[in-house]
Parts: sequence; C-alpha cells; structure tokens
Amino acid sequence: MKILVINCGSSSLKFRLLEMDNEEVLVKGLCERIGSKFGHFRYEPENAERLERDVDLPDHDAAVKMVIDTLISEDHGVIDSVDEISAVGHRIVHGGDKFSHAECLTPDVIAEIEECSALAPIHNPVNLMGIRACQKYMPTTHMVGVFDTAFHHTLPEEAYLYGIPYEYYKKYKIRRYGFHGMSHEYVSRRTAEVMGVPYDRCKQIICHLGNGASITAVRNGESVDTSMGYTPLEGIIMGTRSGSIDPEIINVIAKKEDLDTQGVMDILNNKSGVYGLSDFLSSDVRDLSTAYGKNDPNAIRALNTYVYSIVKYIGSYVTVLGGVDSISFTAGIGEHSSLIRKLVCEKLYYLGVKLNDVANDNANGETLISLPDSRISVYVIPTDEELAIARQTKERLEAYGSGKNYE
Ligand code: ADP
Repeated sequence: MKILVINCGSSSLKFRLLEMDNEEVLVKGLCERIGSKFGHFRYEPENAERLERDVDLPDHDAAVKMVIDTLISEDHGVIDSVDEISAVGHRIVHGGDKFSHAECLTPDVIAEIEECSALAPIHNPVNLMGIRACQKYMPTTHMVGVFDTAFHHTLPEEAYLYGIPYEYYKKYKIRRYGFHGMSHEYVSRRTAEVMGVPYDRCKQIICHLGNGASITAVRNGESVDTSMGYTPLEGIIMGTRSGSIDPEIINVIAKKEDLDTQGVMDILNNKSGVYGLSDFLSSDVRDLSTAYGKNDPNAIRALNTYVYSIVKYIGSYVTVLGGVDSISFTAGIGEHSSLIRKLVCEKLYYLGVKLNDVANDNANGETLISLPDSRISVYVIPTDEELAIARQTKERLEAYGSGKNYE
C-alpha cells in the first residue's frame, strides 16, 4: 500500500511517498517559497538522482500539481499512475476539540476543519488548500486528515482550562489544545520501545525543540499536559516566538510602541524568542551556540533564558506526572544541539539526572545520553512526523475498509 504524505505550511509543502508494506520511503521532497515567482522544488527519490529546480509556484494548487506530475513523469517518476497511491495523508494543524484521531476527509469533516480555521488562521486554510488540490488532481484517491492537536485530546480538564471566565470556554472554546501531537506521540512510543517498557505503563517528558517548540507530559501513553496552548505561541521560549508572557505586556508594548494588537502579536510571533532576546543576533540555535562559545553576551543571555524556560516546564511536569521515568529530546535543536541538552540536564541534577557527556556529544539517531546510574533515563529520539502521518493514514484507511470515496 502506497501512501502520499502532504504537509502544507504557509509558503511550503513537504511531501513523502511511502510503501507502507515495509515503510520504505520511495521519494521525499519540498516545495518552497510558494506564492512567489521564485519558488523552489526539491525531489529526492530513494534510488535515483535528486532533482532541484527553481519554478513558478503561485499557490499550493500549483505545488501539488508539480509534485504529482513529477511522481508520474517519465524522467523522474516512481509510479506509473496516481491510482497506485492508496491514500493521501494530510497534516492538519488544528482539529479543535473535535478530532481525537485521524479522519477520512468527508465533506462533513472538511467543513469541521474549516470551522477550526478561526483557531489557526495561518495554518488550517493552507492545509485545506492542499486537500482541495489533491482532491482535484487525484479525484478517486482516499484523503485522510491527521491532526496536530489529536494526541492532546486526553488532557484532563484542569490542564486544558485557563483561569478565565468559564463561559469563554463554553462560548468560544478558549482552552489549551496543544500542538506537535504527531511528534510527541511518535517520540514517546519510540522511547518506550527503546527503553523496553510497556507504553501504557511509563511516565515520560518529551521535549520537541525546533523553531517552534513544545514540551509534553505523557503518562501511560496519554498526553496529560503540554506547553503550547490555545495557539502555538504559548509555552517555552522559541526561535522567534515569545512563549508564555504576562498578558498585560501586550497592552504596554501597544501603548509604548504605538501598535495595534495585531502589531504586538507580530512582535511576539516573529521578533521575540531567542531572536529577540539575542538583540536580533539570530533565531538559529546553531549561530547562537557558536556565539555562545565565543562568550557573546547576546547569545549567552538568549540561550540561558531559553534553557531556563525549558527546565521550568520539565520541573512542573515532574510534579504533574508524580515522578518521571524518561526525558526525550527531539526536533532540530533537541536532536542536534548537544550544548542545549547539556545545559538543560545540568539543571536537572536535583532529580538525579546524570548526563553521559560522551554519548551526548556523539549522539546520532536514537541514543541513550544518561549514565547507567542516572535516576531518569535521558534520550535523543529523532522525530518523524511524516512517518507518523503515514501510519495513522494507513490505520484509518484499514479501519474504514477498502470502499472508494466517502461521500
Ligand atoms: P521547525 O520544523 O519547527 O521549523 P526544526 O525541528 O527543523 O524546526 O528545527 C530547526 C532548528 O533546529 C533551527 O532553528 C536550528 O536552530 C536548530 N538546529 C538544527 N541543527 C542544529 C545543530 N546542529 N545545532 C543546533 N541547532 C540546530
């Protein structure tokens, strides 16, 4: 069974075609700078030369067409016809409180995703564009939606409610939703497998540290708290996002800088985080780590504050879970920055965390980076959101049987 994974961002589209019988990646790639005349297309087949070209990609429809045309092309194709694809798995950022697992994209489900667009105005509309384009170019192929929010469906009420009038939850659904669910689920499952413990009988903390970042407390295979909230702005300090702040600060910045609310939100989303804290030196932890090594005060301030915010969440989640068996690092920074992992783990000594410096410095792929006598096992576990989407798509498809279309 072949599954195509489509992951649409505001100006990008990541794709992967997998043979799910053995989870082999047949081809993966990326369309970038969608919406501009200077689009870029990268296409990497498993067993052939990769293809890179600058292309005009006016919208996501054009990007999907580019992907499909190339998949079946004579020169670079890996399949003869789109009919070989059993289903397309679409990443959908916000499923609100409606979706606790992947869903076949019936007209009703699509309408509900449209409703959730108010909760994720940047992400859900582009996810929908990807769905519509695939429906147009592959009209008889099954479409499945996989939701970033679904894994956090198990959050208990006390973790998802905010301390604001309850009627706002009832009327406007203002609550914690959480994000990066595919990654947190994939990494927590893998951690349990690597540790050799049953997934439904362990307490884990997962640190997904990328440009966007979130930390999740997982008890017995269920998300019980997570740092991102109503939107992906809440939680730890990120690349350019502020994470949690006192809401009154919004008022003060608006007045002092003569901005409207949208202007302040732009600053909190795009000019804050380690980027803002480093006095705009960089939002990239690679650059900041190099500067940190040279004792640059802007980099030291940014990374120390970043690490502090991570440690604060880990500490609170240890209490939420009533102890913890493992801590896992994943995503760009979690997988590749031995410096950040070391700075975080040093601050967890009180929990009995003992880092294995050699393993940490040389971590490559799934790696245990704590010493044997560490009270908590610490791992690097590379995330694989595309594989997670493909697995959930396959599961959903199998659950629905093999009937064509869902109208
Ligand atoms: P996202 O998917 O949220 O855009 P990623 O998970 O790809 O982000 O992570 C991107 C971030 O990973 C970059 O901003 C960069 O700071 C960090 N990163 C990648 N490689 C390294 C590295 N070798 N050392 C430190 N940080 C790294």
